[in-house]
Amino acid sequence: MSECLKDAMGRTIDYLRISVTDRCNLRCVYCMPEDPDRPPVFLPEEALLTAGEWLIFAKAAAMAGIRKIRLTGGEPLMRQDLAELVWGMASLPQMEQVVMTTNAVGLAQRIGALKNAGLAGVNVSLDSLERECYRRIAGRDRMAEALDGVRACLELGLPVKINCVPVRGLNDSQWIPLAELAVKWPVQVRFIEMMPIGEGKAFPPVENSRIRQLLERNFGPVTEVSPGKRQGPARVFRVPGFAGSIGFISAVSCGCCSSCNRIRATADGKIKLCLHHPVNGDARERIRTGKSPEELCGWLRALVRDKPKDGAFTDEKRPMWKIGG
Ligand code: SAM
Ligand code: SF4
Repeated sequence: MSECLKDAMGRTIDYLRISVTDRCNLRCVYCMPEDPDRPPVFLPEEALLTAGEWLIFAKAAAMAGIRKIRLTGGEPLMRQDLAELVWGMASLPQMEQVVMTTNAVGLAQRIGALKNAGLAGVNVSLDSLERECYRRIAGRDRMAEALDGVRACLELGLPVKINCVPVRGLNDSQWIPLAELAVKWPVQVRFIEMMPIGEGKAFPPVENSRIRQLLERNFGPVTEVSPGKRQGPARVFRVPGFAGSIGFISAVSCGCCSSCNRIRATADGKIKLCLHHPVNGDARERIRTGKSPEELCGWLRALVRDKPKDGAFTDEKRPMWKIGG
């Protein structure tokens, strides 16, 4: 069972994003804001898949055709068994890449073990390089730890992307300094348009075309790089004199549904075939009733056929930290 995993439209699905937890140690204003009147309600511990359960699912997904897994959340570093998860997933014979999206708080101390376990790359969310501005957006004063995490990844030679969500009126002054990280570091600094999901609905998106104009005014004309095999929805640009590159993700207007190759699993093992649509299936229930990886593989193959043609944010009611960003 190693052929491609295809949906009814003929799209090859080889990329799985797994939210390994809904917990987080930050309180970003557009995701899980600090609000004493409305504290986040997390899943009970027993609802989260254990490492063993995720590894059964990952085995089935790899048999079905998944070749890349991204661990996300919530904050994946909240799981103490993260290296075990990475190791188990990266060891699957069909798996080409296991990567992670993280806020990088506490990453410096753990990246060695994660790399040894097989982690192939890290996307770090960093919305500011100015301490107070970071604290206002992330709700916690932990920018220095996040930057330590980035440095530690670079020292180990891991590919790093820095994700910034531009928030009008909050981090406008930081877009150029963040882009400048790619002058000396071989990182891709990516600007992600705010999506109208959960708390993000309260923040009007800053169009990426505006950021691009700003960058071109500061650094000169940028040149688009032709899309790589796993570039996904990002458009990537080279800037003269930069060691790294700049990327733009315009999920609101990307027009990239026809080439979408991804599905998602939430922390309680629900499968989402599209970011914009509600849950489509329950892997946890199947794992906990003893289904074998072969049975799960067959189920996933049938489920994926129903991947929606496209989406427009209207149907998904849950916040990003519950879906897995
Ligand atoms: N905690 C990890 C982190 O922050 O990288 C992983 C989970 S977080 C939900 C993943 C990404 O989603 C982050 O880069 C975050 O900035 C982004 N994000 C959260 N809410 C968003 C929204 N409404 N629109 C666009 N991106 C969002
Ligand atoms: Fe946590 Fe990431 Fe959401 Fe920020 S964006 S609150 S770090 S899950």
